[in-house]
Amino acid sequence: MANSKDGFFDRYGGKYVAEVLRRPLDELEVAFKHYMADKDFIDELNTIRRDYIGRETPLYYAPTATKILGGAQIYIKLEGLANTGAHKINNAIGQCLLAKKMGKKRIIAETGAGQHGLATAAACAKLGLDCTIYMGEIDVKRQQPNVATMELYGAKVHPVTSGSRTLKDAVNEAMRDWAAHPDTTHYVLGSALGPAPFPDIVREFQSVIGYEVKQQCAERNIDIGAMVACVGGGSNAIGFFSPFVDEKEPRLIGAEAGGIGPGIGENASRMTGNASREGIVQGYKSRFLLDEDGQALPTRSISAGLDYMGIGPQLAALGASGRVEFTSILDKEALEAISFFAKNEGILFAMESAHAGAAAMKIARELPKNKAVIINMSGRGDKDLFITSPVFRRDEWISFLKAEVERLESDKEIHSSKIMGE
Ligand SMILES: *Cc1c(COP(=O)(O)O)cnc(C)c1O
Repeated sequence: MANSKDGFFDRYGGKYVAEVLRRPLDELEVAFKHYMADKDFIDELNTIRRDYIGRETPLYYAPTATKILGGAQIYIKLEGLANTGAHKINNAIGQCLLAKKMGKKRIIAETGAGQHGLATAAACAKLGLDCTIYMGEIDVKRQQPNVATMELYGAKVHPVTSGSRTLKDAVNEAMRDWAAHPDTTHYVLGSALGPAPFPDIVREFQSVIGYEVKQQCAERNIDIGAMVACVGGGSNAIGFFSPFVDEKEPRLIGAEAGGIGPGIGENASRMTGNASREGIVQGYKSRFLLDEDGQALPTRSISAGLDYMGIGPQLAALGASGRVEFTSILDKEALEAISFFAKNEGILFAMESAHAGAAAMKIARELPKNKAVIINMSGRGDKDLFITSPVFRRDEWISFLKAEVERLESDKEIHSSKIMGE
């Protein structure tokens, strides 16, 4: 089951949108099919992947982790080495190049924690496109480092003040903008979800991860027992799994955010959690965390990228059919996995990817030594210092932040007007 059938993956997916969005979605679908069959487009995309993103990314054998865990061989797909630090650039570059070919001059995108906004802003800078990022006002305040980086790339960050002022509202605002400016503007959706054709488009641009793994394993005679990815909206997971979903093997495992426990509001477990329900939200049918009246429930995770109430429709379908297994990883287990791979392999996982690392540590022990477990390290952990430091060394981090504020307030020399000569 690679492609959707008229936008559906079994019972999930679809295009539940207002009339004004039908035309831009239909146009996008036609253009996507056209360019994916166009050799010049694919050549240009592959050149950008190689020279700008830094593909292919390495498939790293982790000898110490393998030895300590004592089961299957551990391999790590280092997506975190991609330019901008995570897999999100694969989709951002693909969609922005497509938009440029379609003659669009302006790109909009939603962002929650800021990682998708950052990747889209970088892709627009690289391709010379005008870029506006919609971001909930609360997220803008919480994620200043990412806002600053988006602005460095030349993007305009538009704080969204409606509703709960977070990701959900940023998506609504981006949809509204797109409906009002479909001729000039393309909306780069950030994960493998939303109304058709986005789940197909995002999966195809992310499937470069899975095809590289398939080739790397074939060249090195690696016998894959299981592949493990973390699942927020599901783009890194479905891209990593996609060349394998129509085959019986290997086992494909998605790791959801288990947060602090199984209670309502304590996690973001859309497939394995107590509040998992089928619904139609933001243009597509899938599994969501909803109450009995179909209202969105609060979610919780230490990892901003996994803290989302919905999951992409293709993964929901693959979960229902049993082809993809789901497990949920607690915040605590993800933090332990970060320490484990940092100390034993010199590899720093992003908080999100550490959920896959933690799941793989459990699975490796159950598998024989001649099999491999492949972890998709969707991103690197440098971005998470503000989350991990308060956990691992709280007091030192507080003193550091206080000292930084004092230094900035007292040191007038550092004032930007002097440095920038304004
Ligand atoms: C955004 C993000 C995720 C979650 O998004 P998916 O669409 O589920 O892949 C996972 N890992 C990293 C590093 C991210 O930035």
